Amino acid sequence: MKITDVFKQKERTFSFEFYPPKDEIAAVDLGINIGQLIKLDPSFVSVTYGAGGSTRSRTFELVDYLKNRIGLNTVAHYTCVGSTKTKALEDLKNLRNRGLQNFMLLRGDPEIGSKYGFIPCYDGFANATELISFARENFEDCCIGGGAYPEVHPESVNAEVDIRNLKKKVDAGCDFLITQFFFDNQKYFDFVTSARTAGIQCRIIPGIIPLTKYSQLERFVLLSRAGIPPDFKEQLERNRYNPQAVYQAGMDFAINQCRDLLHRGAPGIHFYTLNKSRATVEIYSTLKVK
Ligand SMILES: Cc1cc2nc3c(=O)[nH]c(=O)nc-3n(C[C@H](O)[C@H](O)[C@H](O)COP(=O)(O)OP(=O)(O)OC[C@H]3O[C@@H](n4cnc5c(N)ncnc54)[C@H](O)[C@@H]3O)c2cc1C
Repeated sequence: MKITDVFKQKERTFSFEFYPPKDEIAAVDLGINIGQLIKLDPSFVSVTYGAGGSTRSRTFELVDYLKNRIGLNTVAHYTCVGSTKTKALEDLKNLRNRGLQNFMLLRGDPEIGSKYGFIPCYDGFANATELISFARENFEDCCIGGGAYPEVHPESVNAEVDIRNLKKKVDAGCDFLITQFFFDNQKYFDFVTSARTAGIQCRIIPGIIPLTKYSQLERFVLLSRAGIPPDFKEQLERNRYNPQAVYQAGMDFAINQCRDLLHRGAPGIHFYTLNKSRATVEIYSTLKVK
């Protein structure tokens, strides 16, 4: 089912994001975690598209498995990295032939360590807007999602320019947006207000990452530039050698954050699961979603 059709049935969606497993052990682990998460009856699931060649083909295999073997509404991520127009057409056709109707189309990030930032392929796409427009022209009936940044995309000069570019992206054919994760809900609501003022009408689903390990603070938060409330940061710092206390602090924070988002009218939550089920299951069950 297209995600836009899911929206017609549900005022709020709850979705889970996975990344393709890097080896056989990770695949078994992911299988166990997906087994727990599908009991929650997600509105849809999505699978990221990585920088490396082998993980890219695993994205296709995993979306195929989730859609056709498990029967979940599945969104395949796809990026401009390494994609010429010919390759994108071939890859998206391949996904369509596997029955995929939903795509999350992104620019992608340069490979870690790259000195030059994002460089489009010759005969490729300079940004997600170009890829979305290309996909919309070639696959009129598909449903397309895009990324959005409540704390401004790191390469944008300012919030106004970023919102203007987001509007171009939506006008190119984007049906819904999912945000980068954030920890300050007010930033999300202010961003939604700015997007509406700019004429962006589609759903903007907040993306949430449960921080359950101290190492994630550096890995995700500092890299993404997501602002972290000082009290929460201090709590994580203070307990950095106490994994159970860090887990609890992360869970308490995420539960309150999700409750507040829903209470204030967010159209659901997209969980960056990091391929683990425990935190997402715990958060979701406390939300008592019907
Ligand atoms: C929900 C979500 C899922 C993600 N999944 C993946 C994934 O699976 N694989 C992966 O590699 N990365 C993924 N990312 C990360 C993403 O690729 C990076 O954040 C990347 O830096 C930007 O991608 P984008 O699609 O938002 O880019 P864009 O929308 O292209 O934006 C990138 C920059 O270009 C500017 N821009 C956009 N459109 C225009 C235009 N028409 N003219 C001029 N400037 C423009 C923007 O303002 C911004 O500064 C995801 C991000 C999100 C939020």
